[in-house]
Amino acid sequence: MIFIDLVRLEQRVELSWKEKAAAALLDVRAATTSDDRKKVLTKHASLWAEVKHHLAGASTGKCWYCETRDVRSDAAVDHFRPKSKVEESPEHEGYWWLAFDFRNYRYCCTFCNSTRVDRVGGSRGGKQTHFPLLNPEDRVFEEGDIAVERPMLLDPIRATDPALLYFREDGVPEPRYGGEKGLRASKSIEIYHLNHTELVEARLETLNRVRELISLGRRYYDSWLLDGSDEPAFESVIAQLKKLCAPGAEYSAAVRDLVKGYRDSEHTWIDQVF
Ligand SMILES: [Zn+2]
Repeated sequence: MIFIDLVRLEQRVELSWKEKAAAALLDVRAATTSDDRKKVLTKHASLWAEVKHHLAGASTGKCWYCETRDVRSDAAVDHFRPKSKVEESPEHEGYWWLAFDFRNYRYCCTFCNSTRVDRVGGSRGGKQTHFPLLNPEDRVFEEGDIAVERPMLLDPIRATDPALLYFREDGVPEPRYGGEKGLRASKSIEIYHLNHTELVEARLETLNRVRELISLGRRYYDSWLLDGSDEPAFESVIAQLKKLCAPGAEYSAAVRDLVKGYRDSEHTWIDQVF
């Protein structure tokens, strides 16, 4: 997971879209029954697809939750607060008033968004209509101030949330901290299915590439220090590592955790790759 500056992103959204979203909100507010409301949401469902390219652009096409970039699959626009149903609160009719609110959109892959079973590991995940709270007694049911809610799930638009996940050297995610922060991380791993075997393997493949580069870098660094030889090769290694650590690179959070583990007083060059 990487931080997404949604406020800045929202500034790029066309005024014409915002006007359509405002009209759709009036439409859904006017619905008098739950069924009518669902029909109105369906009628305007093309609206969130219309801004998908903006959301994708903010992460260079990566899923905001798992950092996978799959150019051959249709990524989804997840409503962070589900629009028509909440799994953890059966009587809730969804945060329908946020259905056309750009700030409620998160760009994500089908594995993070939909229910999938991990055939190898046996786990089941996918966000769907999940929205657990740390304070379920304060859940908001009607259009109003959602700031009282304390979401359990890690949210890419919150600057401190991505770092609550830690990635082990084998690509498996786990909570970085204990307590409430750890609870939020472990629940997010489960619901976004961040420990799905195929995803862990893809992450590990990237980490293995990083390990090879670090090993090369260490070797080139020694000769570069000694007599300046291997400079082009050393530069190339640093450039490649920089690319892999950049926020736009796949699995960059895991890469950064791995690279940080190699920092030591002897190999200060590793600091340059961040
Ligand atoms: Zn994903």
